[in-house]
Amino acid sequence: MAERGIDSGKLKVGLDLKADLRRLGIMREALSIASKRPGLMIDPNEYWSPKQAVRYIRQIEKEFDLIWVEEPARRWDYDGLRLVSQQVRAAVATGENLHNLSQFYPLLANDAVDIINVWTGHSGVTGCRQVAHMAHAHGVPVTMMNAQANYMAHVAAALPNHTMMEVVDPGREHCLTFDNHVEDGYIILGESPGFGIEVDEKKLEALQQNPPTGRGKFPFPRREGAGRYIVPPTPGEVPWRQGE
Ligand SMILES: [Mg+2]
Repeated sequence: MAERGIDSGKLKVGLDLKADLRRLGIMREALSIASKRPGLMIDPNEYWSPKQAVRYIRQIEKEFDLIWVEEPARRWDYDGLRLVSQQVRAAVATGENLHNLSQFYPLLANDAVDIINVWTGHSGVTGCRQVAHMAHAHGVPVTMMNAQANYMAHVAAALPNHTMMEVVDPGREHCLTFDNHVEDGYIILGESPGFGIEVDEKKLEALQQNPPTGRGKFPFPRREGAGRYIVPPTPGEVPWRQGE
């Protein structure tokens, strides 16, 4: 990522503070080839209660400056998210798990969110644009999610308040090819019609015959217990703790 000029990174956190501090340090160092001051973000995927979030984030902020913390409390909990926003230095982001305009209104009306994560999950491209524009009216920036610099990059480019885009493993292509690429930390859009996506039927067929295994079909699973406040990590989730 850093070799492609990407100078900010987001890390899943929340189970083990000591390990998270170490991992953040590794990410910052890796990104330092792209920037003297890499941007760092964390995402506990709703693992904490608002108070737990404040305590945990403040510990991290003793060592790291964070751009944002994503879903530090439940995705729709405007009281909890506002509490976190007011109690930590980092911006609070949420939105990737909300689905339409009306679910965002309470967050904006209650000053509960500093950055909104948008994508096509908000009722498609139309809904995504509606959410972004409503955020723009409130002076809140948006960031495009869950797309490896592919089908949403064109939409992101058309949003007036878009800041930066989540890019997952650029250069890795399975059965789709996208007419855009990452260069010097920016996404360069191609000129192909539509979103510039092409499906390689042969690769798709091969994937269907031999589907991905391991952590599940979805590569970024939300852990059991997320959003239910403090479900202790299983030994499998923190193997380094065994024997402590
Ligand atoms: Mg997230």
